[in-house]
Amino acid sequence: MFIRCWGARGSIPVSGRQYLHYGGNTTCLEIRTKTDEILIVDAGSGIRELGNFLLKENRHDFTILLTHAHWDHILGFPFFKPIYSSKTKINIWGCLLAQTSLKEMLSRTMAPPNFPVNFDALRANISYQNTCIESYQLGSMMITPIALSHPNQGSGYKFKENGKCFVFLTDNELGFRHEGGYNYETYLDFCRGADLLIHDAEYNEEEYKKTRGWGHSVYKDALKLAMEAGVKKIGLFHHNQERFDAEIDAMVDDCREIIARRGTNLECFAVAQGTELTL
Ligand SMILES: [Zn+2]
Ligand SMILES: [Zn+2]
Repeated sequence: MFIRCWGARGSIPVSGRQYLHYGGNTTCLEIRTKTDEILIVDAGSGIRELGNFLLKENRHDFTILLTHAHWDHILGFPFFKPIYSSKTKINIWGCLLAQTSLKEMLSRTMAPPNFPVNFDALRANISYQNTCIESYQLGSMMITPIALSHPNQGSGYKFKENGKCFVFLTDNELGFRHEGGYNYETYLDFCRGADLLIHDAEYNEEEYKKTRGWGHSVYKDALKLAMEAGVKKIGLFHHNQERFDAEIDAMVDDCREIIARRGTNLECFAVAQGTELTL
């Protein structure tokens, strides 16, 4: 599978020279299967550029998978140009848990008086699958959801193809069990042996004293999860809006020191807008 990140920021898009490396767009991942299906995970502000890219490529058939309804994960939807073309076919999947329907959740991003264009202006053929099933099959890829520990709930996902495994857990608080979510051990089991884990790493320990219960993890907790689960590669994700590039680099350095002291082979990096990975 091929994975490209179009937004790794959490909570709100940011811009400025201090953010050039890791980027300012909020959550959006593009995943391409071996059988050439295009899967989009989340519709944060990163989906705008992805839409332009897909139009240039002349691709019109997509599956969108949503983690949850918080603004930073859906606010880019009205700016995803393919939705205004009748050539576009989109299949939207999501296990809603505490949310309303997928259509309701997305149409809210364009609801008056907060947006000038009505949801009815969409020309794409969109189908919604509001189901909490055990797994989805997309071409050659098997996708398994897991409930997140997050306010208002949400889903994380495991993507498996050709013996390779990628786990995506953003907006998951390992240090606090939210309603509908699981405890640390369940996420540990879910991640066991993954080739790649991309996990929420929003806070440092000092910040967490004030933000416990807000739905995000301390980066050292995400690292601990990766080490204990025997993951091969951990990508830190959902960068705080106040976190400058140099500070994210320092978090990665700290993680690498911890890994070296433990003597494991785990690789650690921070996901940037533009990061491309092949498994
Ligand atoms: Zn978020
Ligand atoms: Zn959230």
